[in-house]
Amino acid sequence: MNTPVNKNDQLTVYIEDLTHDGSGVAKVDGYPLFIHGGLPDEKAEVRVVKTLKNYGFAKLLHIVEPSPFRVEAPCPVFYECGGCQLQHINYEGQLKWKENMVRNVMQRLGKIDAPVLPVKGMKNPWEYRNKSQIPFGLVDGKVIAGFYQAKSHRIADTPTCLIQSDEADRLMRAFKENALKLDLVPYNEDTKKGQLRHLVVRKGRATGEVMVVLVTRHPKLSKMEAIIELIREVEPKVTSIMQNINSKNTNVIFGDQTNLLWGKPTIEDLIGDVRFEISARSFYQVNPEQTEVLYQQALDYAQLEGDETVIDAYCGIGTISLFLAQKAKQVLGVEIVPQAIEDAKRNAELNGFTNTFFEAGPAEEVIPRWYKEGKTADVLVVDPPRKGCDEALLTTIIEQRPKRVVYVSCNPATLARDLRILEDGGYKTQEIQPVDMFPQTTHCEVVTWLELV
Ligand code: SAH
Repeated sequence: MNTPVNKNDQLTVYIEDLTHDGSGVAKVDGYPLFIHGGLPDEKAEVRVVKTLKNYGFAKLLHIVEPSPFRVEAPCPVFYECGGCQLQHINYEGQLKWKENMVRNVMQRLGKIDAPVLPVKGMKNPWEYRNKSQIPFGLVDGKVIAGFYQAKSHRIADTPTCLIQSDEADRLMRAFKENALKLDLVPYNEDTKKGQLRHLVVRKGRATGEVMVVLVTRHPKLSKMEAIIELIREVEPKVTSIMQNINSKNTNVIFGDQTNLLWGKPTIEDLIGDVRFEISARSFYQVNPEQTEVLYQQALDYAQLEGDETVIDAYCGIGTISLFLAQKAKQVLGVEIVPQAIEDAKRNAELNGFTNTFFEAGPAEEVIPRWYKEGKTADVLVVDPPRKGCDEALLTTIIEQRPKRVVYVSCNPATLARDLRILEDGGYKTQEIQPVDMFPQTTHCEVVTWLELV
């Protein structure tokens, strides 16, 4: 195999890019070398550790010229844990990288030339997660807990996680110390023995309410009273303690059965003025402060005057729908998970909305049918999963020609692909606004405004 570099070569390279898993990329005669820990605009001495036909990997030995954005990663397990990828870049550098990444992807993959605005970031880009799902393990008789290492199911034992809430942190530590005393032996994925699988902590940012869910292999909690006492002592803000039973040999966190152990079965939160009820398993955005920024942007781009009908495709529990319903004549939401649609309806009721309609089903089938039934939209909002919109839905949009489309995306690559299809079908992208929902990670949410031209 002929590659420009060989294993064990030591060389100085200029790092020009950063991948999604946070590796620096340098090119040697066009041959990409991935360098874990390296940052764009850095000159570094590296040693090649592996070469494949089209790319290779190198170990960072020494940074000759550091990036102006480089900082010491504050988390002690940053290089081990798969949760964050960007703690070694200061926040300004992270936002710059995300803005450039979105702009490059738009141009390269979609030939989209609409302006990409600077990323809307957070004032304090730490402790933002309102949900922590913490796996537990037992190593040499010691209880460990934290997050999985990148691309693996090995736990990086985490003393304190800087992006999760204080409450989750304290509870994680308390369970590490006390799990064995409470007969909560951590579950072992290989032997399929043990009891405690995950500790899930959810928090309503606006209400301060906290829910704790113990995910266990079997229902029996021999020290239930002591468990409840410990949780309430460590975190007096807890208003809900639940148990979920997952006896299956699976990566999926939750099982089918959820029991109330203490308090209420749900907690509440507010995004803007809209109130949401959250149960142990219901989907809810993990960064509520930025969710408000994201939805406000979607609402601004929708430019509602009050007499519009809006379709919200991929509506989840109706979060964007209810935000839009404050300003629209009517909002029709569609989502594939029936339970989420039940939550959407309950949330609409909880807030007293009478101008919303929700239906469970695939957006690409439901929306064409709505159009046939005369349920048409002035503005269409889509917020699809990472794989982007189903092509049939894009075809429906192009055929039905709502005057405005607002596209909320968690994956710039599929967004660029879909924008190209919409532009070829008669729309023009007006503006692209990235919002940083996940500081310290490479993820980036984007809100896009398109007009029929
Ligand atoms: N807008 C919501 C949820 C967005 S996540 C919010 O902001 O909270 C994307 C949603 O699309 C998920 O809830 C997922 O269940 C749903 N989904 C996936 N495929 C779908 C399809 N074909 N039709 C409708 N909804 C779908």
